[in-house]
Amino acid sequence: MSQSESHSNRSTHGKTIDIGIDFDHSYATQLFGFYQNQRPDEAPDPQLIAFNHRLAGELNIQLNNADEEALAHCFSGNALPKGANPIALAYAGHQFGHYTPQLGDGRALLIGEAFNRDGARYDIQLKGSGRTAFSRSGDGKAALGPVLREYLVSEAMHALGVPTTRALAAVTTGERIIRRQALDQFSIGAILTRTAASHIRVGTFQFFAHQGELNHLRQLADYVIARHYPNARDAKRPYLTLLSLIAERQAALVAAWQCIGFIHGVMNTDNTAVSGETIDYGPCAFIDRYDPDTVFSSIDSEGRYAYKNQPYIAQWNLARLAETLLPLIDQDEAQAIDLATDVVHQFMPSYQTQWVKQMRIKLGLTDAHNDDAKLAHDLLQLFEAHQIDFTQGFRALARTLNNDLSALTPLFTADSSSTPNQLWLNDCSAWHARWLQRLAQNPMSINDRSTLMDNHNPIYIPRNHLVEQAIFAAETSNDFAPFKQLLALVTQPFIEKQDCEDFAKPAPASFSPYQTFCGT
Ligand code: AMP
Ligand code: MG
Repeated sequence: MSQSESHSNRSTHGKTIDIGIDFDHSYATQLFGFYQNQRPDEAPDPQLIAFNHRLAGELNIQLNNADEEALAHCFSGNALPKGANPIALAYAGHQFGHYTPQLGDGRALLIGEAFNRDGARYDIQLKGSGRTAFSRSGDGKAALGPVLREYLVSEAMHALGVPTTRALAAVTTGERIIRRQALDQFSIGAILTRTAASHIRVGTFQFFAHQGELNHLRQLADYVIARHYPNARDAKRPYLTLLSLIAERQAALVAAWQCIGFIHGVMNTDNTAVSGETIDYGPCAFIDRYDPDTVFSSIDSEGRYAYKNQPYIAQWNLARLAETLLPLIDQDEAQAIDLATDVVHQFMPSYQTQWVKQMRIKLGLTDAHNDDAKLAHDLLQLFEAHQIDFTQGFRALARTLNNDLSALTPLFTADSSSTPNQLWLNDCSAWHARWLQRLAQNPMSINDRSTLMDNHNPIYIPRNHLVEQAIFAAETSNDFAPFKQLLALVTQPFIEKQDCEDFAKPAPASFSPYQTFCGT
C-alpha cells in the first residue's frame, strides 16, 4: 500500500495539534550552528502503542482530551504541538575507541524543551522520525523492537532509581523498514518520544573541540554549566569544576548500573550524556547469572563494554571529555593537563565510594564500616562461583535475616530439585554469618531492615527473555499485552505481585546464549 492510499484523507502532516506544551528553545536560540532544522517525515498510518500519562503529568503536558488518534498523530511527528521547532543536533564520538568526527542525530529530532512540575528544563525528542543532515547511510527510522525495548528498559531504570532518559510515547508509523536482523528483512517502523534532562553528550564537546572551534566550545560549556551545573559558574575554575561535577554524576550513574546488573552495551562517547542520565538503550541488557565478564552485544566482540569494564570505560570517556576542555581550563596547556588529569584520576575513588554506598543499602546497612566493600565483593564472588542470578540473589537476602538460609539455597542449585552441594552451603553460611555479625553493629528490626532491602533489591527487572517475548508478540501478532504486562511489573520493581513468580525467574537454559543488537 502506498503512503498516499493509506492516509490521503486523514493526513495531518505539517499541521499543529492541540496538545499544550509550553515550549522553550534554549538550545536552538543560544547554540546557533550546533544543529540543523529538519521536519519529521510523514508517518502514513500512525498508531499509538503506549503513552506515559503519568510522565506527561509530571512534565506539565496538557493533553486537552486528546484521544489515541490525536496522540498518535502528535507523537509520530505528523502534527506537532504548537510551538515545536524540530532540530537535529550535531555531535561526534568515539565508537568502540575509534573517533568519528561527525555523527549527530541521524534519526532523532529535538522538538523543543519545556519545564516539568519542579521547574526543571527537559528535552522532548522524537526518535525514528526520518532522515536528517546527520543520517549518513542510515534510513533515519527506528524499528518497533528497539522502540519497545527502550520504552521498557528506560522506564524500568527510572523506577529502579537510576538517572535516565524517559519514554513518553511509542507509536508505529505504518511503514515497513528494512532491517537485517529481521528474519524477513522487514521490520515495523516505530517512533519513540524520549524526554531527557538534555541530549548533550561528551561527543557534542568532541565535535567542536576537534574542529578547533574554541568559541563554540566555550559557548557549549557555558550552556551546560547554566543548564546542569550552575554551581560551577562561580567556581575559581568553572570549566575544571564542570568536568569534576560531570565526573561525579557519571561515577554515581555507573555505580547504580553495577548495583542492578545493568549492562549498557554501547558506552561510546556519543552515548554518554553530560547530564549524568543513562541514554541510548540499544544493545543493553541485564545480567542474570552473575558473571562480571558478561557481554550481550553482538558487535562487542572484544568485550570492551563488558559488565566489569563499565566503570573503566566511564573514566575513559571522561578523559575524552577532559581533553576537549583543556583549552578552557587553562591557557597553559601543561597546567591544564595536570588539573584535568587529577579530576580524571579522582573518578575511580569517587566511583568506589558510590558503589559501596549503594551496595550497603542493598545489604540492609545504614551506617558505614571499612570492611563493607569487601563484604559486598565477597558476596558477588559467591554469586559468581555458584552462578547465582544477580537479582534473585540480592532479593533473597532479606528473607534470610532470621538466619534461616532456606530462601537462598534454591538459588545455589542450577536445578532447584537437586540437593545443594556441601561446598557452596559452606561458602554461603560463612558469608552469611559475617553479614549477620555486621548487621548486629547496625541495629534495626528485621521488619524495618527487610523493608529497606526490598525497596532497593528489585524483584522484577526487564529480564532479557521477557523483553524478547514482549517484542516477539508485538512484532508477529500485533499483540501488545505482554509488553504492557511487563511494563506494569518493571515500573513497580520492588513490589511483589500475586501470580507473577515466573517474571522474577531467570531465563530457561534454552534461552542462552543471549545476544543483543544495536537496532540501527
Ligand atoms: P546509536 O548506535 O543509536 O547510538 O547511533 C549511532 C549514530 O548512528 C548516531 O549518530 C545515530 O543518529 C546514527 N543512527 C543510528 N541509526 C540510524 C538510522 N537508522 N538512520 C540514520 N542514522 C542512524
Ligand atoms: Mg547514540
